[in-house]
Amino acid sequence: MIKVPEEPCQCPDCLRFYREHDRLIREFPTLRKQQEINWAALQSFRTLCGRVLEDLQKQFNSNSSTQSEDKLNTGTIDKKEKTITQVISDLENINAHLYSIEALMERIFDVKVTNEIEDKFREIAGELAPDPLNIDRLRLNRLLHQTPDLPDK
Ligand SMILES: [Zn+2]
Repeated sequence: MIKVPEEPCQCPDCLRFYREHDRLIREFPTLRKQQEINWAALQSFRTLCGRVLEDLQKQFNSNSSTQSEDKLNTGTIDKKEKTITQVISDLENINAHLYSIEALMERIFDVKVTNEIEDKFREIAGELAPDPLNIDRLRLNRLLHQTPDLPDK
C-alpha cells in the first residue's frame, strides 16, 4: 500500500498562518531577533489584555452600584452582568497564563550565542522561509503553474 504524503491544509486560516510563520522567520532570522520579537509580542499582549480587563472591571463596578435599586425588576441587567463577569474571569485567566509564560521566557532570553551561530540561524532561516518576492522563486512559481495567459511568457 502506497502512503500518500498528507498535503498541508489550504484553508484561509492555515494559509494565513503559514504566511505569518514564514514572515516571522524571514524578518527575524537570528536568535537575538527571535528573542526580541517574541518578548515584544508577549508584552504587547499583556498590556492590551490588562488594560481591557481594568476597563471592564471599572465598568462592572460602576454598573453594579448604580443599578442595585432596579435590579429586582429587570432580568436583563443580571444577564448582561453575568456576561461581563464571565469575560472578566476569562481575561484574568489569560493574564495569569501570560504571566507564567513570561517567567518561562525570561530563562530562554538569558541565552546568548556567538556571531558564528547567529550566521547559522540566518542561513537556515533563508532556507526555511525565502523571500516570497525573490525573482528565482517567482520564476519557479510561473513554471509550476504554467500560466499561458501571462503577457511575458
Ligand atoms: Zn486549515
